[in-house]
Amino acid sequence: MKVADHAERSRIFNKDVDRVDWHDETLWFVRGKRDKTIHQIPEWEELRNTASQIKAHTLSNLHYYLQEFEKNATANGVTVHWAKDGAAHNQIVLEILKKNKINQMVKSKSMLTEECHLNHFLEENEVEVIDSDLGERILQLAKDTPSHIVLPCIHMKKEEIGELFHEHLGTPAGNADPQFLTAAARESLRNTFLNFKAALTGVNFAIAETGEIVVATNEGNADMGVHLADVHIASMGIEKLIPQRKHLGVFLRILTRSATGQPITTYSSHFKKPGAGKEMHIILVDNGRTRQLGRADFRNSLKCIRCGACMNTCPVYRRSGGHSYHNVIAGPIGSILAPNLDMKEHADLPFASTLCGSCSNVCPVKIDIHDQLYKWRQVIVKEGYVDPAKKVAMEVMAKALASPTLYRLAGKAARTTLKYAPFVVNNKFNAWYLHREMPEVPKSSFGEWYQKNRKNND
Ligand code: SF4
Repeated sequence: MKVADHAERSRIFNKDVDRVDWHDETLWFVRGKRDKTIHQIPEWEELRNTASQIKAHTLSNLHYYLQEFEKNATANGVTVHWAKDGAAHNQIVLEILKKNKINQMVKSKSMLTEECHLNHFLEENEVEVIDSDLGERILQLAKDTPSHIVLPCIHMKKEEIGELFHEHLGTPAGNADPQFLTAAARESLRNTFLNFKAALTGVNFAIAETGEIVVATNEGNADMGVHLADVHIASMGIEKLIPQRKHLGVFLRILTRSATGQPITTYSSHFKKPGAGKEMHIILVDNGRTRQLGRADFRNSLKCIRCGACMNTCPVYRRSGGHSYHNVIAGPIGSILAPNLDMKEHADLPFASTLCGSCSNVCPVKIDIHDQLYKWRQVIVKEGYVDPAKKVAMEVMAKALASPTLYRLAGKAARTTLKYAPFVVNNKFNAWYLHREMPEVPKSSFGEWYQKNRKNND
């Protein structure tokens, strides 16, 4: 069955006008906070350049740093696993749990496990998984998926969360106070932390030099899970590496400032070795990353540190919502990553952009996001994945724009149609017109006006 494309899904999201306005305003507010905080750092551009260069260097020597990381992590007492795709990753997690006779696992936020559909797989294999990040927990109770990489349930209103907690956690009906609901979630998670024997975390940065990983959270839930469990599993994409510990300072300074405007994440936790009598596993996941590394025009997308700033600033994302992107990672960066995984299914995503360049301007690791979106469009057209009607329309337009005579004739025809038969274009079948009002049609084109007036002035 064909997946509904971005335009169709956006139309559904746009039916709830209040939600769209509030979604747009909230994310723009977060973008504003980011602007305010970065202006307090005079060396901000220097930090962006340095971060971008460290990532470029690491990606160019990824084979070397991956092996260094594996060697050092193993020497620390960690078991390192390699997974070529999501299925292999999920199988490794299941085997670790089975070997330890564990059927309950607490999980802190990890977009990679969303990408691998881990929860669903484990549930099918009779393993109970509880998400401990507040946003992820809300989505788990709602049987929903994240719409943003940093603010996973940004598409939900607090009243909806209040109702959800009333139904699942027994909070009083009608109470949507965020502080009260957060306290209720903490309370309900307490037993999970105390009783579950396995904890899975994501990885924000992995340091090749020391074999340690760094996990950034605002809630401390990763630390709670790991310290109380016997088995810690950390899932990371192979692009999360940085060469040395000294480089971490650059990334920690740009990550949360770009994400939420905070000076630093509340908890930046380092995990290096298992506690006495415990196990620590790190799973290095490829899942299409080496393929993207081999695409010269798109390899820079692997520099992404998942701050979400490109989403917060994107006018299309803010007004279409994350679920419109039908991919785990939404927004501008998701639209570059998704066609690499399945070009046919995600052929619409690089077109879900105005190419205004705001995403590239805010990206803390200087990914040329809007250029890559433009380049994907060309690849997708060449591969034949674009709607044939759109392709023909573009070819006709290219011919008209290349010929002054055709261009003049087309302009005249368009003015006549808009003046005497506007219903030909302004009707319910033309989605472009639905939210637009055209200006009054001029009597002549600018070219004609110029010709006439130049003659008058000669
Ligand atoms: S592409 Fe850049 S701005 Fe977007 S999430 Fe990644 S690091 Fe942040």
